[in-house]
Amino acid sequence: MTQHYRITLLPGDGIGPEIMAVAVTVLKTVAEQLDLSFEFQEALMGGAAIDAKGEPLPMETLEVCRNSDAVLLSAIGGDQWDTLPRHLRPETGLLGLRAGLGLFANLRPAKILPQLIDASSLKREVVDGVDIMVVRELTGGVYFGQPKGIFTTETGEKRGVNTMAYTESEIDRIGRVAFETALKRGKKLCSVDKANVLEVSQLWRDRMTTLAAEYPDVELSHMYVDNAAMQLLRWPKQFDTIVTSNLFGDILSDAAAMLTGSIGMLPSASLGASGPGLFEPVHGSAPDIAGQDKANPLAMVLSAAMMLRYGLNQAIAADRIEQAVLKVLDQGDRTADIMSEGMTLLGCQAMGNALIQAIS
Ligand code: NAD
Repeated sequence: MTQHYRITLLPGDGIGPEIMAVAVTVLKTVAEQLDLSFEFQEALMGGAAIDAKGEPLPMETLEVCRNSDAVLLSAIGGDQWDTLPRHLRPETGLLGLRAGLGLFANLRPAKILPQLIDASSLKREVVDGVDIMVVRELTGGVYFGQPKGIFTTETGEKRGVNTMAYTESEIDRIGRVAFETALKRGKKLCSVDKANVLEVSQLWRDRMTTLAAEYPDVELSHMYVDNAAMQLLRWPKQFDTIVTSNLFGDILSDAAAMLTGSIGMLPSASLGASGPGLFEPVHGSAPDIAGQDKANPLAMVLSAAMMLRYGLNQAIAADRIEQAVLKVLDQGDRTADIMSEGMTLLGCQAMGNALIQAIS
């Protein structure tokens, strides 16, 4: 029986529409092969929405997203909107979208592709075979804990305060996403905290240990965040799936991603308890190359693969897309950002065509 999915597309700004067009064509090709059917609905978000509707996340966009099975976002932003008041800036729309969809789990893969191994700043033998997934808590911790603010003490001195706080239920829900993610991967989960110093981390560690009983097939380990930062650079291959809080995850997911060396290749997923997830490349809207057919669409296409795997539970379709990406790289096809000697330089559209051929 044909599986039917409603997908909201948010092409956004800059190179967004160009790379989204490639992802949609790739999804349509895979759908034809696997008896899937996608109904795409496009909505305005970011600078494009500011220009058309006067706000970065119009209510109708949020409604369309909520009523779909998954949301694909390209990238938003550009200089022309940077001087607007904060509540009208493109990135405020992104925060609103995450909050509006209740997205508390951010999945950031860092996988070394053998064809691009020389793009990494680390030695080949250190990064060869790296395949890490960082699961970051996205809506709690020190970025949101109360009290927060800059207060004046009794002596008249200013004092800045943020509070790192997690409830058991907040830890459990991110923990479950992480254990489920590890089950779909190498079945090893490393929980990163600072339990030797922070009480909030002690609770984090206790809950992760308790949850582990529900997932006997996953091997759980714990690591302090300072050590995790060192180990990511020293021997990243020891990690499979990492779960950590908002602040630690913000830093570690960027560090892990940069092991791969190429920003045009990195996808991400944000998931909630139920309802649609949000799938988007890590990179921005690259205004410097917008409209020139130079953008690398692969992070966008790999985000579509994450949507299939983690949002729609269509692992075979996700595999097909990921294998097509490997195949075009094997053929020597490259966009300008990942170009090296002896390879074939393609534009964004031509890279899309190469992917379609690889899937077909
Ligand atoms: P950026 O990621 O857009 O670009 C950084 C550099 O990488 C640029 O030289 C760009 O040409 C290149 N690049 C990025 N993606 C590429 C791709 N797919 N193919 C080829 N080259 C690529 O970051 P930036 O320049 O700091 O930001 C530009 C705009 O994007 C800003 O308005 C920023 O706020 C926004 N931004 C949005 C998101 C998002 O939508 N989630 C994330 C980061 C930045």
